Amino acid sequence: MRDIKALMRPSAAALEPYDPRFTPVAINLSANENTYGMPSSVRDSALRALADVQINRYPQPLAPGLRAEIAARYGADPAQIIVGNGGDELIFNLFLAFGGEGATVIDCPPTFSIYRLYAELCECTVIDVPRHPQTFAVDEPALLAHAAQARITVVTTPNNPTGTLAPLSFIEELCDAAAGLVLVDEAYMEFAGAPSATTLLGRCPNLVVLRTLSKAFALAGARIGYVLADPAVIDALAAVRQPYSVNAFSQAVAEAVLSESACFSATVSKICEERDRLAAELAQLDGLTVWPSAANFLLVRVPQAHRVWERLRDGCSILVRDLSQACGLEDCLRITVGTPNENAAVTAALADILANDPEGE
Ligand SMILES: *Cc1c(COP(=O)(O)O)cnc(C)c1O
Repeated sequence: MRDIKALMRPSAAALEPYDPRFTPVAINLSANENTYGMPSSVRDSALRALADVQINRYPQPLAPGLRAEIAARYGADPAQIIVGNGGDELIFNLFLAFGGEGATVIDCPPTFSIYRLYAELCECTVIDVPRHPQTFAVDEPALLAHAAQARITVVTTPNNPTGTLAPLSFIEELCDAAAGLVLVDEAYMEFAGAPSATTLLGRCPNLVVLRTLSKAFALAGARIGYVLADPAVIDALAAVRQPYSVNAFSQAVAEAVLSESACFSATVSKICEERDRLAAELAQLDGLTVWPSAANFLLVRVPQAHRVWERLRDGCSILVRDLSQACGLEDCLRITVGTPNENAAVTAALADILANDPEGE
């Protein structure tokens, strides 16, 4: 038997297949999806758009219809936009195009684990500039200093999994200080009610803003993300991408959804309202700490978090994200904000677990 691992690229041999650990449950609050789904009028348009897809033909590589729709939203030029098979693909392609051996990537943990994973797979050197251990704010002076030497600096705002927002004035300062590109991941920006870094695109040619339709726009299953950046950055991303990575069904659905995006504003407002209500209710529970969040999820700390996570899953059929093993997130769980019923269920379940089994007896 050949040693298959020995045949692998060393940066890939170190990896394990990704397992999101989605066990079937009644209430899934583990992946920051929009659990309300689409407004029914949008759903109808999306289904009509699907019916018109010519499945025997290859999709348009650069999704011109969708690209134009996105450009119109931002008052941007289509040349400043590229669409990917989820935001994740665009993160990978950024490291593929701009990373490699000798390139340094700056990461701000605790954050989305994909950056380090993909950067290392592309043979970049990853340097951590940790967030503040209590507030999870980025370390602005350290980040400015490190960015001055780095190929790519990554800042997530609002940050996953902490919900922390980075000030736009700092992003601007960071772009000015950075030697290379600054990736600002705004996957959750629709929930923040804060100005987007896209407003800086004209004056920061090294700024790369990532957005996705997976969260606010309830399209996680369709896998559509996009980047706004200088046309030279877009060309580099276009050069390394797999030409047909964004399939025709997803392009059609995304175009239909974005053309009616105003229909999502009521749901987004509702999710933000529910987030604040859920945070206030969870903060009342004995032994539980909850961080302020600008996204559609809450980070909480509870004693015996892994055991609490198991009891939620096995005893209450509620799945949240267990982050208790991640560096800087000891005893932390991430709870996606759901519908009022889902939020009431997770609050009641946590209240019960914490009142009756605080030390995991
Ligand atoms: C969800 C998420 C993305 C993108 O998700 P896709 O489904 O691949 O579009 C990007 N960044 C962060 C921080 C996320 O949480």
